[in-house]
Parts: sequence; structure tokens; C-alpha cells
Amino acid sequence: MDVQTVQHKSPRSFGLATKHLQGLRRRDFLAGSALVAGRWISSEQTDFVVDPATGEAIAEVTRCGATDMDLAIAAAEQAFSSWRELLPLRRGAILRSWASLMIEHLEELAILVTSEQGKPLAEARHEIAYGAGFLEWFAAEGERAYGDTMPSHKVGTLLQVRVQPVGVAAAITPWNFPVAMITRKAGAALGAGCPIIVKPAPETPLSALALGRLAEEAGLPRGVFQVLIGDPVELSEPLLRDTRIRALSFTGSTQVGRMLLERAAQTVKKVSLELGGHAPFLIFDDVDIGKAVEGAMAAKFATSGQDCLAANRIYVQRGVYGAFVEEFAAAIAKLKVGHGLEPGIEIGPMTKLSVANKCRLQIDDARKKGARVVSSNHGGNLGPNFVSPTLLADVTAGMLIASDETFGPVAAVLPFDSEEEVVARANASEMGLAGYVYTNSLRRALRLSEQIECGMLGINTPSFTGPPIPFGGWKQSGLGREGSRHGLAEYMELKYVCFGDLGS
Ligand code: NAD
Repeated sequence: MDVQTVQHKSPRSFGLATKHLQGLRRRDFLAGSALVAGRWISSEQTDFVVDPATGEAIAEVTRCGATDMDLAIAAAEQAFSSWRELLPLRRGAILRSWASLMIEHLEELAILVTSEQGKPLAEARHEIAYGAGFLEWFAAEGERAYGDTMPSHKVGTLLQVRVQPVGVAAAITPWNFPVAMITRKAGAALGAGCPIIVKPAPETPLSALALGRLAEEAGLPRGVFQVLIGDPVELSEPLLRDTRIRALSFTGSTQVGRMLLERAAQTVKKVSLELGGHAPFLIFDDVDIGKAVEGAMAAKFATSGQDCLAANRIYVQRGVYGAFVEEFAAAIAKLKVGHGLEPGIEIGPMTKLSVANKCRLQIDDARKKGARVVSSNHGGNLGPNFVSPTLLADVTAGMLIASDETFGPVAAVLPFDSEEEVVARANASEMGLAGYVYTNSLRRALRLSEQIECGMLGINTPSFTGPPIPFGGWKQSGLGREGSRHGLAEYMELKYVCFGDLGS
């Protein structure tokens, strides 16, 4: 079976994003200028934003340079003292108002996300609501940033631990969740009392700039939230070398994350990294196959597979292997592939051609090494960024897909015999972000919740993310946590104070 996508444009969807964007009430969302030091700036140098489904240019945005970043750092440093001194209740009110504006503009933001990122509109709408949830969450977490007091070890003293904002923060964000990855970082930084400078992925600047417009309307003061777009290396350089940037949060590839960590060490910043995963999805033979298929579909194909939580290795116990593969293949064959702005679409294009090519490489490699291509859902005459949702069965450890993150709609299924064996295989990965277990045995669920090496584990559920959870990974999947009360801690310093001689 030929699993390569047909590489030419769909005449039906060409122009679709432009048509939707032209209908936006908020024309300023398409202005393309960057938010630096409380001003919307443009330069003569610009970049095109491209609809990944059709390859057409849909907007033009300014290209900021290192000098603009220097201005942004100075403005953020200047804004720090008044932002940190604002009552947490007041900061919380501004964050809540920003979240409300996001919900008010949900449809327009979703159209921006689908147009530049490619995900189906229904998923983009969900992302806006999910993203606004982090602002609400951190509004409240900032209000509850308690310290400690403890019994003293020294006579006549009083001990206290205060939590205080670390200083100016920077965020380098990815294209797969162009809104939520910004609000998850910015909500935490701002709730903690830190101004933040955002450098979004060059593929998805429009969503980030629209967030900047709404942040301003919500009342975030000058320099507290800034968005600079342009070349990643040029813009990150000043952030890395400047000692005024006290915290750096990054989501993206392990390769770039490692380099940023190394560079940030020179100025001893607090660094948090969310670097993607290679999630094992374990299906035991005591489960209802229908539920396991439903779970695997959601865990594999959300965000068209471009999700760091995506199930990358689906291990199925031998007793249900054949039945699972058959039902899973049938479900994959029904997925509707196309332009995310068309009604009912479930799988859109890959945002980057390199990601689509990586999927094709993994399929070819697996096929050559003996995997069975059980289902390949041809999306029609789509385009180079589209990958047919594909099921590879009988995947083995030597295939690329068994160890490299796929980040696309290609499902790898591997048989296993015993619990002990599958736990060892699941853990034999450099990555450790998420994991999934499907079983009807409570004892086994408890055992595996202890044994699987990952930061987040779903037992009999494919979906668990949201503001209350500490999102993050073990091993090469990253450092630190986002969301939850732990997310706030990434932007705070502890200060221990010992009060002595309290006698008179
Ligand atoms: P990437 O790591 O290159 O990009 C992520 C962010 O880092 C973007 O903002 C980008 O502009 C910035 N960046 C890139 N190079 C940089 C540099 N030298 N200095 C400073 N910033 C830099 O990721 P990618 O190439 O777009 O995607 C490759 C793979 O990374 C994907 O296939 C996937 O496996 C992984 N990824 C993971 C996530 C996630 O959610 N964890 C998100 C995006 C990509």
C-alpha cells in the first residue's frame, strides 16, 4: 500500500484561511506589529505567515531584532518593581479580565490558530478555552503564594520563609499550541509578580500578537507582557546573556532545550523545559477493546499527532492484539483529513514540512524493517504538509519510530506478553513525559502507577491535562513543572529570614 501523501494543493481549500481572516472583526489581530515596551512596533523587514494546509501567505509580520529585545528587557526590568508591588488581588483581577477577553474573542482567536497552525477549528476553540484557564488558575495561585514559618532551632529566634518573584522572565514557545503554551507560562510568571517577554515560534506569530492586544486591553501595564517576533537565534541571544532575565521557560525540541539550558547556565537563570516525549500506551488483555481503541485514538490523533503527550508506542497484550489492531485500523480509516477550517475535519496538515517529512521517513523505515502498514487513510489531493493517518503494526525496537518522537498522525503498535516485560520496555526510553495504562485490574493499576517512569500518567483515560496538574517530564523530557501550584514556583525565589534578639 502506498502511504505517501499526494503532493499537490487542494484547489478547494486554497484561499480558505484568507477568506476567514478577512472576515475578522478585529482587524488589529492581523496588523503584524510586535509589542515592545508598551508600543506596537513595525520594521521594514517582514516575514510571511503561511497557511500550512495550502502553502499560501496569509499575513505579513514585522521582524524584530536584537536591539528591540534589548529595549524589551529594559522595559520589563523597569516594570518589575511596580508589578511585584501590586496587590496579588489586583494582579489576579487583570489576569481574569485577560481570560474573559480571550473567551469573548474565542472564535476569532480560533480562526487565527487554525489558519497559521493548521489544527481543526474545533480543537483550536478548545485550545483558547484551555489557554484562558491558565490565566484564571494563576490569578488565584498568585493570591495564595504562601510562605512558611517553622519552629526554630535557635533560642529567642523566629524563622520565616518568604516567596518572592524571581524577576523578569522570558518564554520561548512552540507552534503546536500557539496560545495555551503562552498563557501557561505567562499566567504563572505574571501571577507570581514577574514581567514576561514572549518569543513565539515564527510559524505562529498571529495568535501570540492577538494575545498581546488582549493583554493590553485587560490592563497589563507597559513592559509587563511583551511579544517579539523574528529570528529565534537573534532574539534569544540577548535573553540568554542578560543577567536581568532571571527565569527562562521553553517548550520545544530536546535539542534546542539542551542548548538553551547550557547557555542559560552562563547567567545562572532558573530554567524550565518542556521537551516533548515518547509516551508508551499499555493495553492489557483484560480491557474492553472498544474503550482502548477510543483512548488510543484520542491519545494518538489529537492536534493531528503534533502533541508532546501523543502515544508514540502502543503496546498491546498478545491476547487482544489482533482484535485491537483490526478495530484501531477501522477507526483510523474513518478520520476526516483536510483543511482545519472545513467543517468536520479531524486531522489537519503538519504545521512544518519538516515534521511531515519526519513522519514519512519513520513510515518508510518501519516498512523496510518489517512493520505492517495496516491502515493508511488517504486524505485526497491535499498538500506536502499532510500525512495520511497511518497504522503501523508489529513495530520492533530497532525501528526509528520506536525511539524518536513522531509528532504526527502515525500510530505504532507493538505486541507484548507479560506485565514485567512491558514495564521494562516502556521505561527503556530516554524520554519520560507522559504514559497511559489501560487495564481493569486495580492492583495492576496501582503497581504501574508506581513503576512507569514519567511525569504524567493516565490510567484508563487518554485525557488528563489542564490548569490544576503539574505538567512536565522526567529524563530527557524536561525540567520543572507548568500549571498547578508547582508552576508558580518556577517564577519565585525562597527567602529565609531569621529574626533574632526579639527580647524588648
Ligand atoms: P524547536 O525546538 O526548533 O522550536 C521550538 C521553539 O524554539 C520555537 O519558538 C523556535 O523558534 C525556538 N528555537 C528554535 N531554535 C532555536 C534556537 N537556536 N535558539 C532559540 N530558540 C530557538 O522545534 P521544531 O523544530 O519546530 O520541532 C521539532 C520537533 O520538536 C518536533 O517534531 C517535536 O518532536 C518537538 N516539539 C515539541 C514540542 C512540545 O510540545 N514539547 C513543541 C514543538 C516541537
